[in-house]
Amino acid sequence: MNLDTQQHSVNVMLRQLSFIRSSLIPFSSYSPRTSPIPPTSIRSQTRATMSTTPIQNESTQQTQRPVQVAQRLEKFKTTIFTQMSILGNKHGAINLGQGFPNFDGPDFIKEAAIQAIKDGKNQYARAFGAPELNSAVASRFHQDTGLVIDPEREVTVTCGCTEAIAAAMLGLINPGDEVILFAPFYDSYEATLSMAGAKVKCITLRPPGFDIPLDELKAAVTSETRAILMNTPHNPTGKMFTREELEAIASLCIENDVIVFSDEVYDKLDFEMDHICIASLPGMYERTVTMNSLGKTFSLTGWKIGWAVAPPHLTWGIRQAHSYLTFATSTPMQAAAVAALEAPESYYTELKRDYSEKKEILVKGLKEVGFEVFPSSGTYFVVVDHTPFGFGDDVAFCEYLIKEVGVVAIPTSVFYLNPEEGKNLVRFAFCKDEETLRSAIERMKLKLKLKRVV
Ligand code: GLN
Repeated sequence: MNLDTQQHSVNVMLRQLSFIRSSLIPFSSYSPRTSPIPPTSIRSQTRATMSTTPIQNESTQQTQRPVQVAQRLEKFKTTIFTQMSILGNKHGAINLGQGFPNFDGPDFIKEAAIQAIKDGKNQYARAFGAPELNSAVASRFHQDTGLVIDPEREVTVTCGCTEAIAAAMLGLINPGDEVILFAPFYDSYEATLSMAGAKVKCITLRPPGFDIPLDELKAAVTSETRAILMNTPHNPTGKMFTREELEAIASLCIENDVIVFSDEVYDKLDFEMDHICIASLPGMYERTVTMNSLGKTFSLTGWKIGWAVAPPHLTWGIRQAHSYLTFATSTPMQAAAVAALEAPESYYTELKRDYSEKKEILVKGLKEVGFEVFPSSGTYFVVVDHTPFGFGDDVAFCEYLIKEVGVVAIPTSVFYLNPEEGKNLVRFAFCKDEETLRSAIERMKLKLKLKRVV
């Protein structure tokens, strides 16, 4: 064999090895963070069912093939919300896990959607948003923040806030750019940043208050930092960023020329203090992308209408990505979204009153069951410490809760770069009718106390 032939054989072998490696990725990339529980658990079931995918050919035969996924997504698994809801349905559990209301949005908005369809608003909308919706978003933003923005140049309508986040990351972040996240973080952030090729740095918010460790943040923000991705009111903890914290973030960003992506989808569920939009702080609008949606405020999570508000120089990148991600968002739903955003202030007052009552039922109940409940100032979530019940980690606890108690909660370890940091915490949602909340508490009172380790 001459040298060339030898080299060729080595190359072929390497290619084969790399093929085998990529075929095995769902197994070999098993990591504690994405797969934090032992065999027979939620995680391993998911891995097992997802490790191969049946391909049905024209006859009735099935062939098993390894799943394939691009490297930028290989470490991510089926979202925890989907996993828990599927397991919950299988066991007939009450779902206080995935954050969707189990009641409907207001009739006046549904009627507006029906009317829009009947009126023939059924073809593509303008790519960056139906003009009336861009205007309604701008005027809502003005009412909320006092800032006057140009609906034509500073608002982009997207397919829910999740797409706004993706369009902002993909349109404004270059591979290798450093982005700072606060853990626990909503799961789509890390996956989207990975798709954009960003380098993620994480600052952990710790119970009981989940305050921002400002010294750690100061040390983390450098001239290498391109952006900070934040969320207030914060999912999963319910923490709201205080004015002092926002000012500290703002001055670091101005000093280091950093941009801010701010997910504010729970802004109308601000119970214990008033929500502050970071874009409204001096010097911040020009470096901030504020993202929001209809889903939480109007109990219409399935409509997937969201938007990004940003100055024209940042909107450019967002719109470029949006044009090639979804191009445009559902036309009749955009028309109905205008009706939603024109709701009187009394709508928001009532929404908050309803949710306060639900929150009280859940928090009181969880305390009576025996959890340590951490204060939640906003959102429709509350985080608790499950360790009084003697389980090794959050996923083991949630698995027991679904299978033996009949209640779904969300384990939080998947929301950290280091899952150990979240292993004592689980999240409950109170966007459910009162009877559902009370039944879930009853189930936990009946079955969970028995497991408590004294
Ligand atoms: N935002 C919802 C939550 O936090 C989940 C949405 C989803 O399932 N991806 O529960």
